[in-house]
Amino acid sequence: MPPILNRLWRRVRSTVAPVPDISATLWLQTLQRYPFLSALSLHDQSKLRALAALFLNEKRFHGAHDLIVTDAMAIDIAAQACLPLLHWGKPSKALKWYDDFVTIVLHPGEAVARREVMDEAGVVHEHAQVLLGEAMDRGPIMLSWQHVANAVENAERGHNVVVHEFVHKLDMRSGEPNGCPPLPAGFMGARTGRAAYEAWWNAWEPAYEDFREAVIKAERFGTPAPWLDAYGATSPSEFFAVACEAYFVNRARFATEFPTLVPVLDAFFGPRDAGRPSGKN
Ligand SMILES: [Zn+2]
Repeated sequence: MPPILNRLWRRVRSTVAPVPDISATLWLQTLQRYPFLSALSLHDQSKLRALAALFLNEKRFHGAHDLIVTDAMAIDIAAQACLPLLHWGKPSKALKWYDDFVTIVLHPGEAVARREVMDEAGVVHEHAQVLLGEAMDRGPIMLSWQHVANAVENAERGHNVVVHEFVHKLDMRSGEPNGCPPLPAGFMGARTGRAAYEAWWNAWEPAYEDFREAVIKAERFGTPAPWLDAYGATSPSEFFAVACEAYFVNRARFATEFPTLVPVLDAFFGPRDAGRPSGKN
């Protein structure tokens, strides 16, 4: 088929072809593997299933180091990746938040990336960084399957690498990730965009500073380590990602640790008119 007809055919097919449903058996198994998914209401579970089905239709999985990505693994990841979008309207609209990339690369274990950092004297140092996951702006998402599969234990600790990397994608929709994704109009009753961002930072800045201080005190003076992953103390964008992990997988504990962040995250992830992401902050 000539390329133009091929393109046309693909476009027609993408608008008329039904999205394949997720098998009921596999879906139930996914819900059972992740306590925070089985805790959702039946209504939310069916919304999540529709989102995950469209996600699977739009995304491609690639197994690194000969890892075979089974349907069950892909469904596990799709369900968790779509959790932040659950209340943002129709699946086709909500999934526009993830339309800057197609591929999810799955590593069997931790991945090691080579990093270069320049010191104050301008000397470049190379070092290896161990990664559980990584989100690249307008690029693929990388996840460690070993970490994804260890769901129950991770949820108790408030950890979830899938939520972490996908909320980085939300944060990146407003440019460099800075810990504040684009906020919807009228966020927390704000009349202007500026007031919305003020409401956001009024909650996040003190929470981040307190958390950083607690992590530093634990590392230097041996005080009890905070419950939330200390990696969140490395930057406001990592604090946002780490806080979202805990908010989605262990809301009860997160609410006792960060009561001021719960209403802000409820307002952000709650029902809204999920238009195409836009806006700068
Ligand atoms: Zn991160």
